[in-house]
Amino acid sequence: MKRILTVIFSLLLLSCNSNAQDSKKQKQYPVSKTETEWKAELSAAEYQVLRKKGTERAFSSKLNAVDQPGTFVCAACGNELYKTKHKFESGTGWPSFDRPVKEANVDYRPDRTGGFPATEVLCAQCGGHLGHVFNDGPQHTTGKRHCINGVAMNFVPEAKQ
Ligand SMILES: [Zn+2]
Repeated sequence: MKRILTVIFSLLLLSCNSNAQDSKKQKQYPVSKTETEWKAELSAAEYQVLRKKGTERAFSSKLNAVDQPGTFVCAACGNELYKTKHKFESGTGWPSFDRPVKEANVDYRPDRTGGFPATEVLCAQCGGHLGHVFNDGPQHTTGKRHCINGVAMNFVPEAKQ
């Protein structure tokens, strides 16, 4: 009996240790809030994409049609993410860009949850899920296609001169 208890105790210790390691791997972002706070601040659709890594329905975002000069900012924290001048028509139904405003403004993470290797794009300021980046973008520019959920962003038109 004592032996069994020792084994159980060791297993508990092991699982505690692996939990501790997992939480160490979690990157700390400058804007950090609890799930309760995010839930209160974001709309249900924004929360589902930004915090739960959901994907909006293709062709559902009104940002698909935006072609006036301006900046697409994170819907959760206002971080500048993309510019209209880097937007292109990909035909996918999601706002698509060949590059972010600055590479430092987004974060990349390998993502295998879709059953194939992909690269997740996150907001570098709050860690919100934005979408994915693929290597089938316009060849005459960067070759990248940032496939971004419109609901994760707000559009700020350039001020008229
Ligand atoms: Zn953000």
